This record gives sequence, structure tokens and C-alpha cells, in this order.
Amino acid sequence: MTERGGAVGLAPEALDELLVAGVAPAQHLERHAAAQDLVPGQKYFPLPPAPQGFEDGVTVVHHPPHTRGSTTTPRGAADAAAREARNSHNCDARPREQGCRGKGEATVATTVNTVTGAVSSDDLGKTLVHEHFAFGYPGFQGDSLGPYDREAVVKTGLEVAEKVKAHGVKTVIDATPNECGRDVEALKEISERAELQIVCSTGYYYEGEGATAYFKFRKALGSAPPEVEELMMTELTQGVGKTGVKAGVIKLATSKDEITPYEEMFFKAGAKAQRETGAPIITHTQEGTMGPEQAKLLVGEGADPGRVMVGHMDGNTDVSYHMATLAHGVNIAFDRFGIQVLVGAPMDREREACLIGLLGMGYEDRIMLSHDTVNLWLGRPLVMPDEVVKLLENWHPSHLFENVVPVLQNAGISNERIDAIFTENPKRLFGG
Ligand SMILES: [Zn+2]
Repeated sequence: MTERGGAVGLAPEALDELLVAGVAPAQHLERHAAAQDLVPGQKYFPLPPAPQGFEDGVTVVHHPPHTRGSTTTPRGAADAAAREARNSHNCDARPREQGCRGKGEATVATTVNTVTGAVSSDDLGKTLVHEHFAFGYPGFQGDSLGPYDREAVVKTGLEVAEKVKAHGVKTVIDATPNECGRDVEALKEISERAELQIVCSTGYYYEGEGATAYFKFRKALGSAPPEVEELMMTELTQGVGKTGVKAGVIKLATSKDEITPYEEMFFKAGAKAQRETGAPIITHTQEGTMGPEQAKLLVGEGADPGRVMVGHMDGNTDVSYHMATLAHGVNIAFDRFGIQVLVGAPMDREREACLIGLLGMGYEDRIMLSHDTVNLWLGRPLVMPDEVVKLLENWHPSHLFENVVPVLQNAGISNERIDAIFTENPKRLFGG
């Protein structure tokens, strides 16, 4: 984490919106205390119509947990409910290419591009699916008072690598979009020196906070859509520039409450690149919105939902929102643990309650966990009010293991199931 501005960084979307809005964190907390406003902006999302491939009446998985005949203790109740839900759910009835592989079904290892080369999906091990070794809002490059310090990126990255390795993490997916300071050679150096596998991304950030001028201009000229596809395909199959480092995942992002035409262009290109390469798609949703819409768009464009992870879903703790997204066959990520209150983010305890509920319903093989940490902010160091620093005190890459896993254990989620969430689910996302 950054030394300056408190020991934590802010979410890529968080600080500016908070400050622009002029809202003090204390006010956010107050708002959260009101029961009717636990999830700001939350809406009821009715289940969407069946996506392509589900028209045959085979639907996804909505078995409520039930403990009929169960004699389990409270600690074991969630496990028992999940077992029953698993045993009765009909994922196995769905075509394999629609994702949601059945439990116990034999899997075949696939190849994953890490920044140091290809590895088998069997070798991913415990994986954090969405973090940032360094991140800068587009524009940081112009601030000569905060020049890029590659050495600092590597030094901070090595420290973080040691911390997560101490918790058994073997792989980290760096979700940094192309225009937000992605430095794949720095990632490669961190990976080699720390002996930590890192997977880097190809893709652009959402319209509100990305660098849009370049591809908007080219889109206006009519050349952009194929150029975006070509960029993604080249980075996935040949490498980023002349580095030889290949991207391993496709990063896509949308705005709050809408998918803009600019963003849709990247989604269509990403779905096509996925069809051709099999690379997973990981996404950014803004403030807990557009999860179902992202999933529908990608599946409609032919993406394999089993290789799609809709991200930042823990910005919304409305279970119906998650179920509406999961109904498309995709995976979801609770990948912002530690980011509390800012930009309408829920408190961790609210995330945990929602997560435990979904696990109890049998969705454990469709959910992944991470923090969306920014280990080093590019540009000038951040200056943060003490209240913000306090709210983000647990926003670091060990938080899940130190503070969230014990909560899951207390809720009766077995260590075996928790390990599978960190290990088997990311592997499955890569098709393994
Ligand atoms: Zn991120």
C-alpha cells in the first residue's frame, strides 16, 4: 500500500467522486445506519428473460436452502444446505459450453498466460482475482510533480507479494486496464523476483474514468471497433507491445446505471476475443449496477458465461441482483472487500451477510473473492482525510484471509469450501 496519504489507497472510482460530491465520510456512515438505506441506490432486479442457450427451458439454479430431515448443528447447517442445493440443482443439465460445470465432473487443464509465460490452469493455486499492483487515473502521466517511479512499483509489489504468499496465494490477477498505468514489464519483474504468478489484463476502463479520447476519435472515423479487437487479440496471443508479455484476461468496464456505446464497443470486442482465445473476461461494474446487463450482453455476443466473471458485485448487497446476474450462467466476484462506504459501497459486514447467503444457496462454485487493492497510486501521493483512512483500514491484500475468512468459518462454511472458492473457481474461470 502507499506510504503517503495513509497506509491505504482509494478505490479507483472512489476518491474523486467522494471529494467532488463534497460528502464527508461521516455522512455516508450516517446514511448507512438507516435501515432503509443499507444499499444506496439498490433496486429490485426482476429475473431477466432466459439468455441464449437457455431457451429449452433449462434454467439456472434457484433452489432455496432447505434442511429437511437435517440434524446438523448450526455450524454445519450452511454446509448441509449447500450440499442439498448442489445435489438437487440442475447445472449438470445445461450444455457444458454454457458454463457452470457440474461438481465432480472431470476437468481438463488449460493454458493460462501469466506475465512470465504460460502455465497450466492446474498450477494457478490459490488466486486473488482482482487487484492492482499500481494504478493511475488517466492524466497522471501529465503531472510532472508525480513522475512514474518504476522502482517504487516493483518495491511495493515485492512487499505485497510476500504478504499474500504468506497466506498461500500463488497467483494474482492484475486487473489494471491499458490506459491506467499498466506496466507489464514491472509486473514481470515482481513476478520473477517474488516467485508469485501474475496474470495481466487487456482492455480499457469505463467511460467516466478511462482515457476515452483516443478510441472515440477512431470510432468517429469508423476504424475503431476492429482496431479494439485487433489490440486485444494481439495482446492475448503475441504480447503487449514489444515486451513479449501476453495478457491472460480481458478487462471490460461499464458506467453506473448504463452501458455506453463506447463501453459496448469494448464488450463486443472482448466477447469476440474470448471466443477466439478462450481467455476469461473480468469486468468492472460501477456502484453495484449493470451486473445482469453486462452478463446478458456478453452471453448474447457469444461469450462463454463460464469464463466470465462480473466484478465488483459486492457494491450491491441485494440478493435478487446477484441471482439475476447468476441466472445468465456467469460467475460473480465479491472483489472489493475492505472498501467501505465510499461511493455507496456497503460495509464489509453487509457484504459478508450477502455472501454467506449466496453460499448457503449453493452458488459457491460461481463466486470469487478479492480486494481491488491499489498497492501504489501513480502520480502524486494521495492525501486523504483521517476519516477515510479509518474506513479503509482493512483495504489491503491480506484482509480476506485475516478478517473475512474467519467470518465465513463462523457461519459454518467449511475450510474445504473456502479453499475451493480461492482455488477451484479461478481455475474453472480459465476453463480448467
Ligand atoms: Zn480494479
